[in-house]
Amino acid sequence: MAGKAFNPFEMAQAQFDKVAEQIGLDEGTRELLRNPLRQFHFSIPVRMDDGTVKVFQGFRVQHNDARGPSKGGIRFHPQETVDTVKALATWMTWKCAVVDIPLGGGKGGVICDPHNLSMREQEQICRGWVRQMAKNVGPLNDVPAPDVMTNSQHMLWMLDEYEQISGYKAPGFITGKPVGMGGSLGRTEATGYGVIYTVREALKEKNIDPATTTASFQGFGNVAQYAIRLYNELGGTVVAVSSWDQGDQTSYTFRKTVGVNIDELLAVTDRFGGIDKAKAKELGYEVLEGGAWIEQDVDILIPAALENQVTGETSKKISDKVKIVAEGANGPTTPEADVELERRGIFVVPDFLANAGGVTCSYFEQVQCNMNYFWTREEVLTKLDEKMTTAFKAVSELSRKKKLYMRDAAYAISINRVAQACKDRGWC
Ligand code: GLU
Repeated sequence: MAGKAFNPFEMAQAQFDKVAEQIGLDEGTRELLRNPLRQFHFSIPVRMDDGTVKVFQGFRVQHNDARGPSKGGIRFHPQETVDTVKALATWMTWKCAVVDIPLGGGKGGVICDPHNLSMREQEQICRGWVRQMAKNVGPLNDVPAPDVMTNSQHMLWMLDEYEQISGYKAPGFITGKPVGMGGSLGRTEATGYGVIYTVREALKEKNIDPATTTASFQGFGNVAQYAIRLYNELGGTVVAVSSWDQGDQTSYTFRKTVGVNIDELLAVTDRFGGIDKAKAKELGYEVLEGGAWIEQDVDILIPAALENQVTGETSKKISDKVKIVAEGANGPTTPEADVELERRGIFVVPDFLANAGGVTCSYFEQVQCNMNYFWTREEVLTKLDEKMTTAFKAVSELSRKKKLYMRDAAYAISINRVAQACKDRGWC
């Protein structure tokens, strides 16, 4: 990360301030919405496999719950900070509002690197997180989910701890659970598929046949893997993906101009999305430096890794061929890069719209758990597609009508919905 230190929460506030000004939001509501309602920072002591005790730092931020219980994932990441969690919680509020589900925004995290932790140690972190937060989370006030480097197994340990503490079964406490243990069919693929539903709609508006298009991805985790699958089903060709090498932990771009073969690449990928560089080479992939994904001569760029990747600097490297940037990750694009993308007329599907498929499906999972339903995969994905398509069309229409940049149009819709809920409750 070159240049001045990047603060994702300041970025989330800058994005909000711009649109709050555009829509003439009153001062009190602005003050309320540009900060989280609540934040928790706590210690999680864990007895490690070698017998020593290590203390991990955990977080939960509840940004706003005027529209319903806070909702959002828990990340395990060595560079986690409270400001990252605050930003991500804020984006969750806008995300739930843009797809119009009755939930607010929250996010959690633990500073740790699961690459260096045994399963037992990870289980202890999960259970410790719940022990610290049990009084302030729950099916009716704050519902966690998976995020970067957490998965359905982590969610099940957390659910089990919560149920042990509360003394009753509460499958609606957490989403992203394993199917068969209260999880929803379709949840694993929901975020990646949702990204491509919005790409499909964007291409439709531009009268472009997906089968004639190419894309480059940053990231090869859960979001990218399923997005690539669905994009391939629409006929699109992915020419490059960037991810970590399992060995040296450095990021590289893996390119195959005839098209990345998802199954072949998955066979040499670990559970965190790290690729075995040597084996990828054997499979005929060209291995370029990590940042090369953004310079590819493609129609669509999909940043689906972490925040702060499309910056003032890197956005200048985007090829003239690129028509769409669909943000699978949360916060991948900085405000400086937004200026560049807007100037060049690149159509951006902003993060909290593009990647809302995960939380939308989480909402379906909550509904099924709370009502003891079990929907088919087709039912879930059909409902998901409808929700995402409706949200995309509303944002795109507002953007056209008011000549707003897509991110600003999405913000305008979300801020208005959340502000209205706060006003209706008499908060501001
Ligand atoms: N972690 C995902 C996100 O950033 C999903 C959150 C959820 O399902 O609650 O949207």
